[in-house]
Order: sequence, then C-alpha cells, then structure tokens
Amino acid sequence: MSAPVYSMTHVAPTIAAILDIPAPAQSTGEPIAEIAAELKGSERCAVLAPDALGMYQWGLWHQAMPFLGSLINQHHVVLHAVMPTITPVNFATMVTGGDQSVHGIHAKDEDFQCETIFEVLAANAKRGAAVGQDGCTMGDLIGRWAERCGQIAKRAPRYEDDIVADMLLEVATEDTPEFLITQLVTTDDIFHEFKPSSPQVVPYLQDMDARLNRLVEGLAELDYGIIILSDHGQHDGDGRGTHGTDCDEDSLVPCTWTK
Ligand SMILES: [Zn+2]
Repeated sequence: MSAPVYSMTHVAPTIAAILDIPAPAQSTGEPIAEIAAELKGSERCAVLAPDALGMYQWGLWHQAMPFLGSLINQHHVVLHAVMPTITPVNFATMVTGGDQSVHGIHAKDEDFQCETIFEVLAANAKRGAAVGQDGCTMGDLIGRWAERCGQIAKRAPRYEDDIVADMLLEVATEDTPEFLITQLVTTDDIFHEFKPSSPQVVPYLQDMDARLNRLVEGLAELDYGIIILSDHGQHDGDGRGTHGTDCDEDSLVPCTWTK
C-alpha cells in the first residue's frame, strides 16, 4: 500500500485551508488537497500528535492499534519530517509551514523567527489552544507561543497523557477554540526506553489507541475536523530508541484524518 508523501511543511497550510484563513506568512508548503477537501467545512480543526509514532513502528505494531488502523485504512498520507527530526523543530514546522531555516527553532525555549498559525488565528478573530505535558514541547514552546498571542495553553503533569486527553476535551467543550493541537508524549518515551522494535511497547500502544479513540469521539461531536500525525519517528539504537537523523525510520510518519 503506497501512500503519497508530503513534507511536514504542508501541515500548517492544510490547517489554514480547513479553517479558511491565510497560511502563516513564511510558509513554504501547500495545503494537502485530500485532507483539505474532506475536512473543509468543519467549523474547527484539531491536530492530535502521538509523538514519534513513525511508519517504521506502524509497520511493526499496527495490530496493537485497531482504532488508528481503521482510520489509516480509510485514507492516509505519509509525512516527511524536516531536519533535524526532533520534536521542537517539527512541531514548530507544523504551526508555521516552514523548516528550521524559516522558523529558527532548535530547542523548546527559543522564540519563533516567523509568523505562526496563532498570530493568523488572532488576526482573524479565531482562537487556538495548545494542550500537553508540562516540560515538553507542547507546553514550553507551542503553548507558550499561543499564550503570547492571547490564546489558550493547558499543561498536564509529566507522563500523564490521559490527563492531557481530559484537558483537551474540557477545553474543546468549554472554550470551543477553532484550532486545537496536542502532543501525546507516551509513545516517544516508551520507544526511547525499550526501542521501537521491542514487544514491550505493545501495551502502551494499545493505551494510546484507546486514548485516540476517546479524543476523536469527543472532538467529532463538537464539529472538529481531526488530523492525526506524528512529529518524527525513531530507529533502534544501542539498547534504546533514538532519532534526529534523516533516515526513513526517523523521517517518515503516518498522517490520517476524520471528522
Ligand atoms: Zn524523542
């Protein structure tokens, strides 16, 4: 089954097309037509990102994730993460449409050097929200920037993705922001700890699948068009999982969508 491959720089323009707002000014990507066509007309857009769940792990362990599999079997594309294939760089690309030479982000405590989707939302009287674990990219970089643009950031304790999911559904219900983004870090943590090819990851993937199912059901009721993707993959290192290189295991991630 071969799916088209698009650069991570296409995500921000795709979100903008769904929400009918301009893409961030320095974006170099284009809207992904198959996603925009299906989700356009949704009042809101949510991006759910299980961290480091690449095509490599998907090939190994997809049977542990029947819900995500049911979406991917309907339709998916493959995204190519930008270099270096690490979390702050690729989330920065998701919200700007530019690679590192454009957004200037190397680490989560740095400031964006270009416009993000949050400035665009603010200029168009729409709201964005970022929900994620404290001490991770979603809280420390994306949420910090959302707040700087007068928008919403919620932070859950470290290692508590189920609380992240609770908070996301609470924000979606109470504030109904037009744009929501979350990072679910458990997958990155366990691939690092056990390495991607270890069967020890399976119970955590089953939990992540149930979490994604719960999020999609809750968000679809609130008229969110939902994109599920990862920021990068991982490859087997010496006893651990690792990433950051341009190998396919680090670079290629699945992306699917539903409403
Ligand atoms: Zn990592």
